[in-house]
Amino acid sequence: MTAAARRWCFADQLGPHFLDRSDQPVLLVESRAVFERRRFHRRKAHLVLSALRHRAAELGDQATFLRTRTYGEALDRVAGPVSVCRPTSWAADRFVRSRPGIEVLPARGFCTSRAEFGEWAGRRRTLRLEDFYRDARRRFDILMDGDGPAGGRWNFDADNREPAPRNAGTLGVPEPWRPEEDDIDAQVRADLDRWERDGSVSFVGRDGLREFPVTATEVQAALRVFLRKRLAHFGPHEDAMLSGDRVMAHSLLSAPMNLGLLDPLDCAHAAEAAYRAGHAPLGSVEGYIRQLIGWRDYVWHVYWHFGPDYRRRNALGARTRLPEWFANLDADAVGARCLRDVLAQVRDHGWVHHIPRLMVLSNYALQRGWQPDALADWFHRCFVDGYDWVMVANVVGMSQHADGGLMATKPYAAGGAYINRMSDYCGGCRYRPGERTGERACPFTAGYWWFLSRNERHLAGNRRMNRPLAGLRRLGDLDEVVSQQRRLGRSAP
Ligand SMILES: Cc1cc2nc3c(=O)[nH]c(=O)nc-3n(C[C@H](O)[C@H](O)[C@H](O)COP(=O)(O)OP(=O)(O)OC[C@H]3O[C@@H](n4cnc5c(N)ncnc54)[C@H](O)[C@@H]3O)c2cc1C
Ligand code: SF4
Repeated sequence: MTAAARRWCFADQLGPHFLDRSDQPVLLVESRAVFERRRFHRRKAHLVLSALRHRAAELGDQATFLRTRTYGEALDRVAGPVSVCRPTSWAADRFVRSRPGIEVLPARGFCTSRAEFGEWAGRRRTLRLEDFYRDARRRFDILMDGDGPAGGRWNFDADNREPAPRNAGTLGVPEPWRPEEDDIDAQVRADLDRWERDGSVSFVGRDGLREFPVTATEVQAALRVFLRKRLAHFGPHEDAMLSGDRVMAHSLLSAPMNLGLLDPLDCAHAAEAAYRAGHAPLGSVEGYIRQLIGWRDYVWHVYWHFGPDYRRRNALGARTRLPEWFANLDADAVGARCLRDVLAQVRDHGWVHHIPRLMVLSNYALQRGWQPDALADWFHRCFVDGYDWVMVANVVGMSQHADGGLMATKPYAAGGAYINRMSDYCGGCRYRPGERTGERACPFTAGYWWFLSRNERHLAGNRRMNRPLAGLRRLGDLDEVVSQQRRLGRSAP
């Protein structure tokens, strides 16, 4: 195919690094059917359309921008050769390969290539994140002093698990960058309102001013603020939650990065430069770089490595449907303070940081045996940074243990004691983290024992579960715990 091929950029391939030349002809497609098929969060629909339309405006005549119902209709209207970087889902990948005359290039927007991952994975029986991450540090020569890790340590996780500061209210970190809406946002809002009114699409969540970058210029501004003012605080309280500070020191860059606006390797190099210049401590910088060149790339490759059926794995046989209050983000129906607050944040912003995702939302679902693929679909639709590739490994693999332990050596199930230690939620809650039966039984504590008792046989061979299972066997009131949880069923706690 000639170098003049028009580059089709999907709505999550919007950065300059998806083009071979700055003047390459571009095809952008806004497909209405994407929004008709699934009930997305309103803020997510806004963000994606705003980013796509901003890119079209930026490229001007260089781009052919088509608004059609389906991708197929758009491609039928394009003459000449088309190339595309590998799309980010199995479905889109199948689609582009089924169309004659489209050249599919290797994926971009990730650090490690498929060949490098294949080479790394081929040498191993288990795919441990820590091994992958260290290999990536060496390959990219990031945070290295000669052959060894900068500062003599690969891993600062132990330092980066401090609980929430007591009686602090907030972490006291400078505010993240926030965008100002423009005419394109106003048009997007008007279109979404109209589509909703004419009944062709329906959304979950609440609308509100756009909170994330949608252009390469905006994203660079957001990255600068993070590196200069917030990165230094990133590490120590990475795993903590504060009811009065939903963002803490997190970067808030996953949404623009997943739109393809930011190259993760550039971010990692910029974070290292901040460390070398003495602007941020090693623990925070290592923690951030680990997320980027480690976790993010790792879940991307796991998605492709384990094949299209990975999403349907259900090793623990979890078959309960998601309840309506959860599916509809009805936080007001919930009394448990941690869950109510986190669900309200999802409803109002389409974003919460890693620990509420893993240890509140997913933990609650895991404890109650909700269907892993339905939960993955819920995360995909309700989060501004949710895409198929990132959901399957994080939800089905990591959070629900539905892959039988390919990604995590033990299930991420935890009781109220964990949430109490890592947050300030429990003090103002109607439940008590130490109680597992009765009116004030904490749903997370009771749910934890219910989960263990349901899955005891399955988990018995796992050495890391020996202690929790021994605790389960000592529990005198287990029957009462289980019958109370069964009675509550799918009702909001
Ligand atoms: C159940 C569950 C669902 C998740 N869903 C998503 C999702 O839909 N989209 C998404 O991008 N991340 C997802 N994550 C990972 C992580 O929670 C988010 O990337 C992070 O909270 C985004 O906020 P941030 O940009 O402030 O991240 P930071 O805390 O600042 O982290 C830095 C960056 O690391 C990357 N990262 C860190 N961990 C992961 C991970 N496990 N998977 C992928 N990228 C990672 C992100 O790009 C992020 O911007 C999920 C995690 C869990 C446990
Ligand atoms: S007591 Fe239980 S339900 Fe209430 S905030 Fe604490 S962990 Fe959440």
